[in-house]
Amino acid sequence: MLKNRIQELQQQVTPFYAYDLNLLRQTLQSAASEAGKYNFHVHYALKANANSPILSEMKNVGFGADCVSGNEVKCAIENGFKPQDVVFAGVGKSDTEINYALDQDIFCFNCESSHELEVLNELATAKGKTARVALRINPNVNANTHKYITTGLEENKFGINAWELEGVLDLLDTLPNISLIGIHFHIGSQITDLSVFKNLCTRVNEFQEWFVARNITLEHLNVGGGLGVDYYTPDENLIPDFEAYFGLFNQFLEVRPGQQVHFELGRALVAQCGTLVSKVLYIKKGITTNFAILDAGMTELIRPALYQSYHKIENLTSDKPEVRYDVVGPICESSDCFGKAVMLPETNRGDLVAIRTAGAYGEVMASAYNLRDKAAAIYL
Ligand SMILES: *Cc1c(COP(=O)(O)O)cnc(C)c1O
Repeated sequence: MLKNRIQELQQQVTPFYAYDLNLLRQTLQSAASEAGKYNFHVHYALKANANSPILSEMKNVGFGADCVSGNEVKCAIENGFKPQDVVFAGVGKSDTEINYALDQDIFCFNCESSHELEVLNELATAKGKTARVALRINPNVNANTHKYITTGLEENKFGINAWELEGVLDLLDTLPNISLIGIHFHIGSQITDLSVFKNLCTRVNEFQEWFVARNITLEHLNVGGGLGVDYYTPDENLIPDFEAYFGLFNQFLEVRPGQQVHFELGRALVAQCGTLVSKVLYIKKGITTNFAILDAGMTELIRPALYQSYHKIENLTSDKPEVRYDVVGPICESSDCFGKAVMLPETNRGDLVAIRTAGAYGEVMASAYNLRDKAAAIYL
């Protein structure tokens, strides 16, 4: 796609993010229509990418917003999401963030501890409001993904563990300004093994039984996000298999009459539509390899440095025979490397290089380390 627009791209100051809005629209259409088959509701996880043009596509297909900070709640509302379509999760919501979300009357706080419930009750009481809450439960399900993006094991900081639930219900009896409306789960990210979600359904069903046995009706089940994408061969799987994903929940999740099912997808919706485009500054011969030194680095895309994650790298300019390169950035850190032993067409100074599948957790994690400028975003 980008190769056809090389003339146009060459006019841009590098590095920059390029977003393919057509692909985004097709992806969202697919997700919305597969979720719609079962009347499932999707809240887009803003933390994956919070750029306004992307948020407006999310709104257009009718998705709500899943936020993990007060500023994300603010960003969602400023971008036109209705407060009743906003949910707010996170283990460490500050008083300022909670107060702001209470003032906005958001749909639901996904609460992660007893202590948070007590504070939320106190702040809601001070405003004469009732906070709608879903308990984020840690289901102890292994997501089989990188350990930094695994969130549903008992050793993780997230959610309320099963053995604490009895105590939480006793506590809720003493908190008049909290209204329990659902249960929430989010077990990790970049999950490519769908059987993990089947295990999640089994656990959610068990938890639901536990609540039903205590005469508690839950208006909604929120099963979080985490669906992975294909970083290795993006062009073969530009749109994730939403049919299989939502179909699996339809098959294995026990939904009670009148109950809503909520999802919080981030990566699966936006990863493939974004590419980081960079220019080659220098070629340098190493002992065992050549280095292709780019003008983009971990300040623009930190995933390889942070999670050893793979991104497909393409030379958009050259079609010469292939040579092996370590593709690195300009930052003063050895972890500032986009890929080792990457086969690329013979690469020269000035060539444009595409780092694919960078639409999720790319631009939002950019930093100013080394006092770098922020990369621009363009929409194609
Ligand atoms: C990050 C996050 C998501 C989205 O995860 P993806 O892997 O991007 O789908 C959903 N819910 C919560 C609570 C999160 O923290």
